Parts: sequence; C-alpha cells; structure tokens
Amino acid sequence: MIPIIVPVFGPEETAAVAEVMRTGWVVQGPKVKQFETALAALVGADQAIAVSSATAGLHLALHVAGIGPGDDVVVPSLSFIATTNAAWMAGTNPVFADVAPDCPNVTAETIARAWTDRTRAVIAVHQLGMPLDRAPIAELCKARGAVLIDDAACALGSLCAGEPVGKGAELAVFSFHPRKVVTTGEGGAITTTRADWAERLRGLRQHGMSIAPAERHHSGASESYAEPGWNYRMTDLQAAVGVEQLKRLPAIVERRRALAAHYDALLQDCWDVAPMQPRAGAAWNAQTYCLCVMPDGGPPGSRRDRVLRHLNARDVGARRGILAAHLEPAWRNQPHGPLPCSDAWAAQSLALPLHHYLTDEEQRFVVATLREALAQVA
Ligand SMILES: *Cc1c(COP(=O)(O)O)cnc(C)c1O
Repeated sequence: MIPIIVPVFGPEETAAVAEVMRTGWVVQGPKVKQFETALAALVGADQAIAVSSATAGLHLALHVAGIGPGDDVVVPSLSFIATTNAAWMAGTNPVFADVAPDCPNVTAETIARAWTDRTRAVIAVHQLGMPLDRAPIAELCKARGAVLIDDAACALGSLCAGEPVGKGAELAVFSFHPRKVVTTGEGGAITTTRADWAERLRGLRQHGMSIAPAERHHSGASESYAEPGWNYRMTDLQAAVGVEQLKRLPAIVERRRALAAHYDALLQDCWDVAPMQPRAGAAWNAQTYCLCVMPDGGPPGSRRDRVLRHLNARDVGARRGILAAHLEPAWRNQPHGPLPCSDAWAAQSLALPLHHYLTDEEQRFVVATLREALAQVA
C-alpha cells in the first residue's frame, strides 16, 4: 500500500524521548517549555501554549476569549469535523459558512453571509495548509466586535505574503497529529499575541491551576485553582519529539512542495481532475495533495467514490478529500443556509498519497492508476 502520509522520524527523535525517560519528568516539564519557545519563534508569535491536540486548542481558544453558551460561532462546514466539534465543546452554536469556488477556504464574503445577531467569534481554517485571504476577514471581525480564531491545524510552515501563518493572530491553533506535516503523535498548540490570554491558557490546560508545576517544584509554593479548567496537557515525551520535528520542518516542507509540483506536472494534461492550488502570493506547505474529480452526470460524489475505490483496490492509499460537517450524520440537522461550494468540494475532492519517502516511480503509478480509474465509465 502506498500510504497517504508517513511521519518523518530519525534517531534524533528516539534519543530525545529516551533522554526524557531518563530524567523522569514526563509531563508538562522543561521539554514542553522548549517546544513552546521553538514554535513561537518559528511562527513569529509572542507566546505559544502546547496542548494535547488542536481540537483541545480550539476549545480553549474559544473559552479564553469568553465565547460560550448562547453565542454563535461561524465555522466552515468544509473542514475536518474538529472545527465544528470544537465550537460544540465550548457550548456554542456553530453556524456554517460556505467557502470560495476556487479555493477551499472561507472568505470575508461567505462569513458575512453566515453572520447572525449572536455571532461573537469566527473560526477560519487555513484548509490543507493553504493560507486564508485573512486581512478582509480580520477587518470584518474587528468591525463587528467578534473574535477571530485561525484554525492553522494544517498550516505550520505555510507563508502568506512572506509571513508565517499565525503570525500576528490573536489566537491561532496548530496540530501535531501524524496526518499533519510534523507530528508529536497527538499534540497541538495555541499561539497568541495577548499576554493575559497566554497566562490564562497555561492554567486552563491543566485544571485551572494558577502556578506551573516547574515553579512549584523550584519554589515549594502550593498551587491554587482560580477557575475551572481541563486536562489538555502535552507530555514531555511528545514535546521532545516535537522539538526535533520543528528542526526538520523546512526540509519536510521543501520535499512536500517538490512532490506536489511533480504531481501537478504529471496531471497537467488530465482534464478530468483539477488539483487544488493555493492563492497567488502564498507559499504553501503542501500538507495534502487534493484534487477535484470532475463529475460525470451521476449523483454527487459518485464518480469520485468510484475512482477512490479503484485506487484503494490497487493499493493506492488515496482518501476522500475534505468533508463537509453539514453532510455528516452528526451535524445533518444543524440549520444552515445554502452551501453550494462546500457541497461541490465535499463531493469531488480526493487526496492522493504524499509522504516524504514517496518515489518518482510510486507517483507515476498513482497517476497511471488514477487515469485508469477516470477512463472507466459508470
Ligand atoms: C487535523 C485538524 C484539526 C484537529 O487536529 P487534532 O490535533 O487532531 O485535534 C482541526 N482542524 C483542522 C482543519 C484539521 O485539519
């Protein structure tokens, strides 16, 4: 099977984990701090707070901004389901915004169309690592007094106008799940420009504790609990892997971009598919190579599903592309306006294998198998 993704681990990660085990401090310790410092530097953020996943990070981001029950949160339906679930975890009502026809991201216009008089926050996703057209969205949120949260789960290593995604964001959330460009197994982080929120987030991720374990350890002071919180801690075993992974990020992104460009070249004359492309001016981390399979007149998604079955039967680990929450049983009954672009992307999108060790021969096999599948009539 040619897998969709393979983590890039070397002896450095193994040694780093062994070292943490040797010290005996395995949760929320010095490695987590080191990981946060390295991540903040990479993103160009004032503060980074490591958590157990991006989903946990999105939940905390909403909570720290004071968004909760009674509030509407605008989210793209077209995203990994965690974006919508995080709004639900915070007790808010997710309101689905559509995405653009030419890029699977929300825009200021689609967000404005989803706005209600209870809207107090927007979670805008940099889908597949493709940077949002963010400035007009930030302007809209500012004008209407709503908080903007960047779901940058997939976007570590992507640049927009030369700046890392997340830089300057009030709240941006990253994921280190193995499906993303670098991984800590499970893991996430929030970056923020607000020192007051950073301090509260450090408490909220560990039961609302108001003093860090490292400080307690050194000063002998006892902790107190100023407000209720969650257990969303990252372990030092994960953070140790993360520190090494961040060092690898530039090489991983460079390789992914080259592989994506190679797929583009191999598919150039294939009119039955349209590979997704980032907006002009964006430097994309190529987190997922996703394309749209042109419909053939059958029911929505039927041709894509047929192509997917053909690829999987020949050991090509392709997957359906981006899902739309409003089409999933969990959120099917959520009221929403028309979402035509989300419907189309959800029915047509297909992700091809793209991992660090993918060979030229494998890429050619994937494309030949895809062409074979496309040539088949229903
Ligand atoms: C992967 C992903 C998440 C969730 O990340 P976890 O770390 O697995 O919780 C959230 N949003 C988007 C857009 C994602 O792709």
